[in-house]
Parts: sequence; C-alpha cells; structure tokens
Amino acid sequence: MIKKVIKHYYPSCIGCGACCQLCPDYFRLNQETYKAELIDGVISEEVEGGSEEAYTERTIEVEALPAELEVAVNACPIQVIKIEDERV
Ligand code: SF4
Repeated sequence: MIKKVIKHYYPSCIGCGACCQLCPDYFRLNQETYKAELIDGVISEEVEGGSEEAYTERTIEVEALPAELEVAVNACPIQVIKIEDERV
C-alpha cells in the first residue's frame, strides 16, 4: 500500500469541471461557488516564500494511484491539483 496526499488549491480553481467529470469519486462541482471540491478534503494552508495559499487535502492509502486521479491532475488547465507523498 502507498499513502498519497491529494491537494486542491481551490481559490484558484476556475470551475471548468474537468476533474469532476473525469474523477467523480474525488471531485465534485460546488453549485454555489462554481469551483471544484475535493470530496472529504480537509481545509489547510501552506506558507511558501512568504505567501499563503489555501487548499484542501485528503490522504489516501491505496495499492496504486487511481488512474482517474492522474488523469484529473493532467487535465486541470491551471494545475491546481497536486499529488504528493504523505509527510512522515
Ligand atoms: S480541472 Fe482544475 S480548474 Fe477545472 S474544476 Fe477541476 S480543479 Fe478546477
């Protein structure tokens, strides 16, 4: 099993819906904000170079990274979905 952290930098999401269509087990479109939501994601924030950017994250433990997740990452036109190894 591997543990991966999915991060969705939702403030920058333009709501194109690609991730929601390609990966509905992990993303859905919020009908009020017109941005995607990471299902079961927890709100967090990251400080990088002095700037803060909010994101939601969800840790998954899987045999292999789901193909649809990789497809969603690659389909996002502004690359606001990241997948990282779990922090130790
Ligand atoms: S593919 Fe990217 S921009 Fe489009 S809805 Fe998903 S996170 Fe937002």
